[in-house]
Amino acid sequence: MQKRTQREENPFPFSDSNKRYHTYEYYLRRTFGGKCVKIPLNGGFTCPNRDGRCGYGGCIFCSGQGSGDFALSPDLSLAEQYRAEREKLSAKWDTARCIPYFQPFTNTYAPVERLRTLWNEALALPDVVGMNVATRADCLPDDVVDLLAEFSERTVLTLELGLQTIHDKTAKAIGRGYPLSVFADAWARLREKAPCVRLGVHLIFGLIGENDEMIGQTVQYVARLSPEEVKFHSLYVVKNTKMAQIYENGGYFPLSRDQYTDLVVCAIEHLPPQTVVARLTGDSAETELLAPLWGLKKREILNEIDKKFYARKTYQGKLYSL
Ligand code: SF4
Repeated sequence: MQKRTQREENPFPFSDSNKRYHTYEYYLRRTFGGKCVKIPLNGGFTCPNRDGRCGYGGCIFCSGQGSGDFALSPDLSLAEQYRAEREKLSAKWDTARCIPYFQPFTNTYAPVERLRTLWNEALALPDVVGMNVATRADCLPDDVVDLLAEFSERTVLTLELGLQTIHDKTAKAIGRGYPLSVFADAWARLREKAPCVRLGVHLIFGLIGENDEMIGQTVQYVARLSPEEVKFHSLYVVKNTKMAQIYENGGYFPLSRDQYTDLVVCAIEHLPPQTVVARLTGDSAETELLAPLWGLKKREILNEIDKKFYARKTYQGKLYSL
C-alpha cells in the first residue's frame, strides 16, 4: 500500500498542508481569498516606557527601535513608506492585497484625533484589505477602544497586544511597566465595547527568571481568552540593551533551539484550534543580535516545529480545554 503523505495524515482541521497549526498564511487565504502582505508603517509614536510616563529606557530587551527594527523613518509620509515597503516585498510576494501594520513602539499612545487621521490615511492606501495595530494594554483608554470599534466596522482590524508573560514578578524584572490586572481590564473592555476587533497576544519565551511551568501558566491564561491571534517569540538579546549587559555579565542563559521549539509545540497544543498562530519566531537584525544565534535561521526553527508536531502525532488544540 502506498504510504500516506504528511499532508494526508494531518488531522488538524484548519490546514490544507502538512502544518498542524493554524497558520497566518492559511487564515489570510481563507479570509481574503489569496496571499496578503503586511506592510510595516511607522506612525512616529513613542512608548510610555520610554518617555517617562511609566519609565525611561524601555523594556530590558527593547532595541530602541520599539520592536520595529525594520521600519522606515516616520519622516516619510505613510504613503511613501507604504510604497517603498511594498516595492521591496513585491520582488518576493504578490502584493495585490496589503495590510498596513502600525508596528514600532506603542501605536495607540496618542490622542484619538491623531489616531483617526493616521488610520484613515492608512485605509485610503491602494489595495488595503485590513489593518493591524500593535500596542500595550496600558494605552487603551475608553475613547481609543471606541475608535477601534468604529474602525473595526470598516475593515478587518487586528489589535496586537504585547503581553509577553502573565507573571507580575517577571513583568517587573523586564520593566514592562504594568501588572497583569491592567491587561485583563483592557481585554475585558475591548471584548465588550469593540467585539469586531480581532485581538492578538504577543508572548516571549525564555524571559529572565521564568521556567517551563511559568511559561505554561501564561499559555493557559492566554488560551482561555480565545484570542484571534498569538505570536510567539524567543527572547533575543540585542546589542545596546539592558538585557545585553545582563547576558554579557553571565546573568542570562538563552533557551536552546530544542527547548524553544518544545515549548512552542506544547503551547500550541493548548491553544484553541481557531486561534491563528501569526508568528513562531522573532526578528532581529543579524548585526544586532548577540544571542541566541540559532534565532537567525528561521526556516530551520519552523522545520523543527513541524517535525516535532508530526513525530508526536499532535496538533493545535489537542490539549485545549476551557
Ligand atoms: S513596550 Fe515595546 S516599544 Fe515600549 S519599551 Fe517595551 S518593547 Fe519597547
